[in-house]
Amino acid sequence: MSFSSKILDWYHENKRSLPWRKSTDPYKIWLSEIILQQTRVEQGLPYFEKFKATFPTVFDLAKAPADQVMKLWEGLGYYSRARNLHFTAKFIATELNGIFPNTHTAILGLKGVGPYTAAAIASFAFGLPHAVVDGNVFRVLSRVFGIKTPIDTTLGKKEFNQLADTLLAKDKAAVYNQAIMDFGATQCTPANPNCTICPMQKHCTAFSDKLIPVLPIKSKKIKKRDRFFNYLVFKNADTIVLNKRQQKDIWLNLYDFPLVEANSLLSEKELLENEVFQKIIGTQAFTIKKASKPFKQLLTHQKIVAIFWEIELKSALLVNDSSFFEVKQKNINNFAFPKIVDLYFKDKSLYLELF
Ligand code: SF4
Repeated sequence: MSFSSKILDWYHENKRSLPWRKSTDPYKIWLSEIILQQTRVEQGLPYFEKFKATFPTVFDLAKAPADQVMKLWEGLGYYSRARNLHFTAKFIATELNGIFPNTHTAILGLKGVGPYTAAAIASFAFGLPHAVVDGNVFRVLSRVFGIKTPIDTTLGKKEFNQLADTLLAKDKAAVYNQAIMDFGATQCTPANPNCTICPMQKHCTAFSDKLIPVLPIKSKKIKKRDRFFNYLVFKNADTIVLNKRQQKDIWLNLYDFPLVEANSLLSEKELLENEVFQKIIGTQAFTIKKASKPFKQLLTHQKIVAIFWEIELKSALLVNDSSFFEVKQKNINNFAFPKIVDLYFKDKSLYLELF
């Protein structure tokens, strides 16, 4: 029996029930695929349901305010996906009269759609014979065929893509693609794959050569940059000051607080002497009430450590930065924040009573 037949047989017995699989609507498939990029199915599922319910058509998503899209996306991370999603919805609604492109090349031309997502949409929505190659597929192919070429190199990508195209059951592209991804996600998992009852076992190089822990191979280890954020949570009566992140950096278009970034978390003395802090506070009267405990957030290339300085102002902040603005505490739920700010809010027993 061929590799593809074994994968299809396995899928027949073991497939997961996922809501977007019930549809061939390219809009819903695109939505699910963008949400699932770099996200586990269990985490992405509620977001898919929220987006589908709030924006039943591409026109609904296209005309939504950017803040609403970012708020719905809050907590999912990799926010450029949300910005690209919104951009592409507007493009399809206005330039293509709401009709999703139906060729692989045109789908690949959409902003935020890479080779994997294009193959997924082309096969799931239109039955086109394009093989998906995601992390699951890299793992399954490298293990079964014993391929040691690093998956994060140009050569590796080419080799795996060619093999995936050769193996694709072209007349059943949609089912086959879903099958191999499910196989990787639930059977040939990164740690502790279920080899004992695996239909590939007899032909699996990684199993016979004891290479399971080393395959697939990656050439580079991602080095994370440490960043230290000293957030200034200014409060005056029932308002607090927020910052809209508009610089070319992480979390573009999300909201946080005025920030003093430094080489470390600062002591109170260091904060008071810091030039950025002095520029923000100017000559205004203030009292530092307390500093939070440190919070951490890991991103792909960065480790963020933040503390939140809670500062009471005697009058409204004389805003000297166009990104800062005052907002009533009761309206704070209208804004989308990075996870680290949400962690800080959640650590407070009263979400809106900051201090
Ligand atoms: S035998 Fe083990 S390593 Fe090989 S494909 Fe099956 S689950 Fe994966």
